[in-house]
Amino acid sequence: MTPLLEVKDLKVAYGKIEAVKGISFTVAAGEVVTLIGTNGAGKTTTLRTISGLLKPLSGSITFDGLPLTGTPAHKIVALGLAHSPEGRHIFPRLTIAENLQLGAFLRKDTEGINSDIERSYDLFPILKERSRQAAGTLSGGEQQMLAMGRALMSRPKLLMLDEPSMGLSPIMMQKIMATIAELKSQGTTILLVEQNAQAALSLADHGHVMEIGKIVLSGSGQHLLHDESVRKAYLGED
Ligand code: ATP
Repeated sequence: MTPLLEVKDLKVAYGKIEAVKGISFTVAAGEVVTLIGTNGAGKTTTLRTISGLLKPLSGSITFDGLPLTGTPAHKIVALGLAHSPEGRHIFPRLTIAENLQLGAFLRKDTEGINSDIERSYDLFPILKERSRQAAGTLSGGEQQMLAMGRALMSRPKLLMLDEPSMGLSPIMMQKIMATIAELKSQGTTILLVEQNAQAALSLADHGHVMEIGKIVLSGSGQHLLHDESVRKAYLGED
C-alpha cells in the first residue's frame, strides 16, 4: 500500500550548515511513527520542511500521493497535514475557544467545527472548563493540550507533533502521551518528534533514531525500546 507520507533522501541546510543530511522514511495511514534523538539531530528541521516552512536542498516529500516540495505551507495544511510546533505557539491573548476556532480557519462548516471543538473538549476537559479564558493563563501542559486540540481542528490526515512532552511534569506528560494513544486508537495518523524516547517508542509502531542529521537506526517501537544501543544512549541505562 502507498504510504500516506513518504520522505526520500531529504537534505535541508541553514546556509552552510546541513541540518538534515539525506533521510528517508515513510508513515502509513493509521500509524504512529516517531523520530527520536538528541538536541540538534535535525528532527524539528525535518517537520518544518514537511510542513513547507523550510525549503529542502534536495530530496522529495510525497503526501497522499502528491509531491509537497515547493508547495506553500497554507496549501499543505489544506491537503490535510497539521503541525503542532515545538514551543506550542498558541495565541496567549485570545481565549481557548478562539484558539481552537483558529485551527479551523480553512473550514466553513460551522456544525462540523463546533462538533470538533466538542471533541477537543472531550479529549481535554480542562479546555472546556476554561474555554472563555485567555490561553496565556493556561499552564505549560494545558497549552500543549490546546496546541494539539487546535492542530486537530483542521481534521488532518496526518498530525505532526513536535516534542509535546517538552517541559511538562511527569503527570502532565503521561496525560499527553495517553491522549496520543487515544488519538491513535481512533485512527489518527501521527508523526511524533520526541526527546522522551521511552514514552515515544512505547506507543509508536515504528521509530527512527536521528543523530546529526541522519537516521542511524530504524525499527518497530518495541524493537527499539529493547535495543541495547538505544537503551544506553536514549533511555539512560549504563
Ligand atoms: P531539538 O530537539 O533541540 O529541537 P532537533 O533534533 O529538533 O533538536 P533541529 O532543531 O532540527 O534539531 O536542529 C538541527 C541543526 O540545525 C542544529 O545543529 C541546529 O543548531 C541547526 N539549526 C536549527 N535551526 C537553525 C536556524 N534557524 N539557523 C541555523 N541553524 C539552525
